Amino acid sequence: MQDPREALGEALAAVADTLRHHRDLGLKDIALSRPERADPAQALAAQERALQGCTRCKLSKSRSTIVFGSGNPAARLIVIGEGPGEEEDRQAKPFVGRAGVLLTKMLASVKFDRDRDCYICNVVKCRPERNRNPEPDEVAACNPFLMAQIDTLQPAVILALGNFAAQTLLGTREGITKLRGRAYEYRSSILVPTFHPAFLLRNPGPEYRRMAWDDLKLAKREFDRLAALKR
Ligand code: URA
Repeated sequence: MQDPREALGEALAAVADTLRHHRDLGLKDIALSRPERADPAQALAAQERALQGCTRCKLSKSRSTIVFGSGNPAARLIVIGEGPGEEEDRQAKPFVGRAGVLLTKMLASVKFDRDRDCYICNVVKCRPERNRNPEPDEVAACNPFLMAQIDTLQPAVILALGNFAAQTLLGTREGITKLRGRAYEYRSSILVPTFHPAFLLRNPGPEYRRMAWDDLKLAKREFDRLAALKR
């Protein structure tokens, strides 16, 4: 069992992180009752503004632009990748390179239109040099922004692309091959992990593609099931 003092220390550190994040967003008051849900487009725009000029981690030194996210702020599906690549860093938009082209096709294969039905973002918003994996301090620095995006969208389904996004969100070191193939409860959403499109481009055999398609069909089934419950 965890030492209660250690648990309290961790809880207080999490509260401090949240308060710092709220301060960075320009919030001056803490509402004691549950606030009305803010307009998601406005909330995302405020979060993106709060991130401008960010120097919270060392990725700020090598990036050209901050790649906050793109898509429909009212979408009920959020797609989360690892971090921007070279092309994304240039265009300030997630998934616009070769992996992005494949992602768009993967989504379309289960009738999700990338711009209409999805909001797409990454665990870290700045490109790690030479596309290395983001480091723990970089993930921690960006985490409040990712959580704010998820809490703003309140998506029915989260599609986590690849080892890095799935492990970070689920808080595990288990690999994607083990994690994929099932749905997880995550905050108030259902999370479906699948292979990263860049991995599928590097491993073009039918086996991985079929598994990815199974995952996409699972995400679509969960999406439709939750939409039916809302009606
Ligand atoms: N890979 C990612 O994980 N994210 C992008 O935005 C592009 C490539």
